[in-house]
Order: sequence, then structure tokens, then C-alpha cells
Amino acid sequence: MTPNYPPVGMRNAPVFRQIYRENIIPIQEAIAVDWDNRLQMPVSFHYLGRSYEILELIGVYPDASSVSTLTFLARTPYGVCAIYLDPGVLHAPNLSNRPGQWVLHYFIEEDSAQSEVDMLVEMKLKQIADFHGHLCPDLVIGYRAAQYALTRLEVKLALPYLRVSVENNTSAVDAIQMLTGCTPGNQRLSIRDEGKHVYVFQVSDQHGLCLTLAAPGQEVPAEFLSIEQKIQAGAASLDEAAAYQYLLDARVSYLLKLPIEALFEMRWVETAWQEAPLSSDIRKCDGCGEPVIGSRLINLHGRRLCQSCLASRRTINAN
Ligand SMILES: [Zn+2]
Ligand SMILES: [Zn+2]
Repeated sequence: MTPNYPPVGMRNAPVFRQIYRENIIPIQEAIAVDWDNRLQMPVSFHYLGRSYEILELIGVYPDASSVSTLTFLARTPYGVCAIYLDPGVLHAPNLSNRPGQWVLHYFIEEDSAQSEVDMLVEMKLKQIADFHGHLCPDLVIGYRAAQYALTRLEVKLALPYLRVSVENNTSAVDAIQMLTGCTPGNQRLSIRDEGKHVYVFQVSDQHGLCLTLAAPGQEVPAEFLSIEQKIQAGAASLDEAAAYQYLLDARVSYLLKLPIEALFEMRWVETAWQEAPLSSDIRKCDGCGEPVIGSRLINLHGRRLCQSCLASRRTINAN
């Protein structure tokens, strides 16, 4: 899957929510850090006579106010904390030779209360988010599309003749698979990545229910997009990553609450499912010699070629 929301794994979303709410315990003390040169990250630090092993490096963030400082967000056995390098250290020619001047910025308060988003999310969506790795807007779009289509088409999951075509390769696809049982592997999910939130659910050979994301659902706030760009470029500060979690939560809530008619445009469409049965037969390609499922080989002047060999033959012929 695309690295669409790097800093907000399911497990770490509460951490960013707490930072956003400033539910932190400020420390601001110098600490000694063990820096691993091979991993290029801190592996433990020492503070008030206690050793803190870093179990997970959640993220590394440039400081918004100073380009020369990096903040490391790390999970330790005693909680999640933010530590940063004093700018003076970073200016030194060799970082690894000066591991002393680190600062323990703050600890993050444990979030015992269930977040608003968790309360909004029903069990099935929680399971889907677990499978997918996090809760994100695209996942909700796929979830709502599949949930609606199953009800509208009165489909029981066990029905083997439900088929789905989707025109994107986003997180939505995971929700569709979990809810419908249609997967690329069982040949009942066709994915053509055109970057469109278009979903066709069909129970007959002739027509299907087509859901297209309606215009209001596409109005992603400009602030959201600008932080997302920064995160993808690795240029977002920790505070911005936290703000992004807040905006993500807001968008997830919005998409969950939006009436289905406002979320999708719906129509019945003519469909023709491209049936391409797989054979059990495996043969060698006459070009590269690799074993290929027989029904996927293409006959060219008496030679049976795989897709890659056929494509390269075409390229050679074109030149
Ligand atoms: Zn996702
Ligand atoms: Zn080949």
C-alpha cells in the first residue's frame, strides 16, 4: 500500500492525539543517549539513574522553529517521550562522536479515556482498521461503500456471485475486501487504479450498483493537504504530525457521519465482468524460460510468451 499516513499507525494514533491536546509532562533535562551508528537512531537513554530502552522509534521530526534540531518520538517501557538533539551537537562534524547533549523534552500522558473517534467507530470498522493497520479516511470511504451496497443488494457475504470492481488502489480496497469477501485472489475483486473513488458491486452479469464519491466528500481542507505534503516529504514537525492526527480524526468522523446519499452518487450501470479463468497448468515461457500459468501465456507466431516477453518483443519491434 502507499505510504499514505506514515506517522499514524493504529497503535500510535493516541500518542499524536495527546500531543495535539498538549497532554504532556514537560521535563526539559539533559540526558545521556546511546546512539546506534548502524541504525542511525538512539537505542536507549539515561535519566535520573534509570535506563530507558527505546522499544520503538515512532518518528523523527525537524523542529518547526529551527532547521538544525531533530526531535525523536520514542516508545520506552515507561511511556512515550520526545527527546531532541541540542542544535550545537548537530552542528558538530561527526554526530556519533558527541552523543552527550540530548534533551528529554517531555513524556506523553497515558490516554486512559477512549477517544472520540474510537467511540464513533463500531466493532466491524475496528476489525478492518486492525487488518489495515490504521484508521484513515479512505478506509472509511471503502467501508461505507461496501456496507451500503451489501444492504442495498441484500447480499449475504456467503454469496459466491457478488463481484466488485474498484477504480483506485487506496486503503478503501482493504475495507471492501473485508466486508464483501471479494479479493483479487478469489477472482471476485477487480482493481483498476485510476485514482477514482468508483465502486461497482454486481450480483448479476448484466448490471451493477455503481457508487462514486460525491463532490462534498472530496473537499479535503487545504490545511490537511499541506501538512500531508510535509509529512510525505519528511519535513513535518512533531506538532504538525499531531495536528495531522487531529485533522485525520476530524475527517474520519465527518465521513462516518455524512448521510450516504451525500457521500456517494449512485446509479445502476451495465457491466461486463472480464472473466479470465486461471488454469492449474504451469508451463515455461518460450522467451524467458520462467514458469507461467498456462492460461496467461500468449501465442505469438507459434511461441508461447509471458506478458513481459511479449511487451519487450513489441518494444524491440517498435524500435
Ligand atoms: Zn489507510
Ligand atoms: Zn517470458
